[in-house]
Amino acid sequence: MGYSDWVNKHAAKHQIIVKKLLAQGFNEDEIIEYFDFENMKDKEIDFCPLYAKNQKCHDMESLNCYLCSCPNFRFNDEGIQDIDEKKQYSYCNIDSKDGRQGVYGEKIHQDCSGCSVPHHKEYVKKHFDFDWMKIMSPCEKKS
Ligand code: SF4
Repeated sequence: MGYSDWVNKHAAKHQIIVKKLLAQGFNEDEIIEYFDFENMKDKEIDFCPLYAKNQKCHDMESLNCYLCSCPNFRFNDEGIQDIDEKKQYSYCNIDSKDGRQGVYGEKIHQDCSGCSVPHHKEYVKKHFDFDWMKIMSPCEKKS
């Protein structure tokens, strides 16, 4: 499954949960609270494969799952551009100091494993939209 497929499937799961909460009268702040890791792993076990293992993707006390994936993650399944005879498939749009470009054979992918930017509740509040897809940004090929 390419990243685009994952995004579309994840968007569908995200939308079902948000619609359910809106129908129950949740407001924006309550929806953000609902997406806290500790609550999500109990109530929405199918949202993330790590929930079943009670495992967080990042080592932080209060981890919010609303903005998984990250709005700053730019990707193209066909490749964005060639760099030094390798193909770049993704990068960080804000060049976070905690992210890095990982080289895997002929492929370059953004490695976000050390970056917790989108998982902070205040960051989610700042970028919030009830429609998760409106927050996410794929990108065009550069060459
Ligand atoms: S490095 Fe951080 S800010 Fe950049 S795309 Fe990855 S998670 Fe988002």
